[in-house]
Amino acid sequence: MSKRNKTLIQFFEWYCPADGLHWQRFAGEVPFLIDLGITGAWLPPAYKGTRGAESEGYDVYDIYDLGEFDQKGSVRTKYGTKQQYIDAVNVARKAGLKVYIDVVLNHMGGAEEKEKIKVRKVDPENRLKFTSPVMEIEAFTKFTFPGRAGRYSKFQWDHQCFTGLDYAADRKENAIFSIVNDYGEDWEPMVHNEKGNFDYLILNDIETRNPAVRNELKRWIRWYYEMVPFDGLRLDAVKHINPAFFNEWLDYVRTEISPEIDVIGEYWLSDDLPVLLKYIEATNERMKLFDAPLHHNFSQASELKQKYDLRSILDVSLVTEKPNLAVTFVDNHDTQPLQSLEEFTEQWFKPHAYALILLREAGLPCVFYADLYGADYCDKNSRGKKKTIKIPPLAELPRLLQLRKDYSYGLQKDYFNDPHCIGWVRQGDPGIPGSGCAVILSNHPKKKGKIRMEMGKAFAGKSFHDFLNGASENVFVDNDGYGEFHCDASGVAVWVVQS
Ligand code: CA
Repeated sequence: MSKRNKTLIQFFEWYCPADGLHWQRFAGEVPFLIDLGITGAWLPPAYKGTRGAESEGYDVYDIYDLGEFDQKGSVRTKYGTKQQYIDAVNVARKAGLKVYIDVVLNHMGGAEEKEKIKVRKVDPENRLKFTSPVMEIEAFTKFTFPGRAGRYSKFQWDHQCFTGLDYAADRKENAIFSIVNDYGEDWEPMVHNEKGNFDYLILNDIETRNPAVRNELKRWIRWYYEMVPFDGLRLDAVKHINPAFFNEWLDYVRTEISPEIDVIGEYWLSDDLPVLLKYIEATNERMKLFDAPLHHNFSQASELKQKYDLRSILDVSLVTEKPNLAVTFVDNHDTQPLQSLEEFTEQWFKPHAYALILLREAGLPCVFYADLYGADYCDKNSRGKKKTIKIPPLAELPRLLQLRKDYSYGLQKDYFNDPHCIGWVRQGDPGIPGSGCAVILSNHPKKKGKIRMEMGKAFAGKSFHDFLNGASENVFVDNDGYGEFHCDASGVAVWVVQS
């Protein structure tokens, strides 16, 4: 049997309503997602964050509280209760949709108790530069989780479990403090020298050199799997975590839990591919990575319009360098407007970008929730001004997904010759009847795109129509197997055999 294409969805955006109904919404959407050809869903972090029912989950408070304990002002999380989560995951997996859980192991916040600890202050722009001698401060570094009262794990986190933090409670001072503990006076080793050493991101930074921490995180993931069986892991902020930790931890996951677990790391660096390749080497290909450099190309191309040379759209990207490890995407909850890494792909270029990730051979694409369902929200921008954002659902997306599911198979041939118009064909898989397509896209606002492309002799004499736009015009493939395919100015067209 011929292998069908795999497609992921990131089933949330930053501003999903905090109504506790998200897990139920997900369960309800499962049939629709499967019908679109989605094979896996990445769900947001399911555990209690520091802001209780308002937290997106990235400000982790208690990794054992999946919406079960009255902590941080709420039993449920932003997304619902633990039972609703388990039920939704079961609905998805029974229907054949794989579930990827979001794992945030870089930091925790919301400790209950203070400890007297030794720290050194560092320069926020160069964390290797200490700006104070070793000094004693009082800080919130002890987590006792009174609401959970030892259920599932009795482990209590203290300053031996953290490398750094950002608040000295006794001095009421906000700064980045490096903690002096039994595992070193310095940060953990990273593969890149951004900010000197970017171990520290936010809140209390987890110390993975402490063997008790490593054991606890292994115990936890096993507990998680027994509670909520999953198919994949999406690892948050791996840029800020010692790669040696993941080597040990992922080997544990694959030997003690399941060898089948798929792993995707979020190493956010959109303009420095060599660092991503270095990280892949350091973790010895144990995880796929999101293709942030490709996302950067999309964002640039959308902004520069016809000044961008489309022939270079796939250059310097993970999908070109390491196709088997690239998870391609157009936007996510961090790049959407008003979010931390805001670098959004402009709407006019979204069909182009989705065609590039969905209809080509290389990469595992991940569709963004807001592009499928739209998003409508209000927040402050970086200058503190309130803004309203409306992301419309991308009208072409369901059809592009259907093209991926049913047509985008077989040998790929590229026509990347014109700076304003590129195209490629997929010559079809005999095991998937009707498959094969010709894709063409333009970034010129005035010039239509046109390319003569080879579908292959199997298609000689066949009539093609533009499935994406539903236009009535046809293109005939000649006796040599070539057709003259075209698209509108600044447009995208995907041609398939007229049935
Ligand atoms: Ca860290």
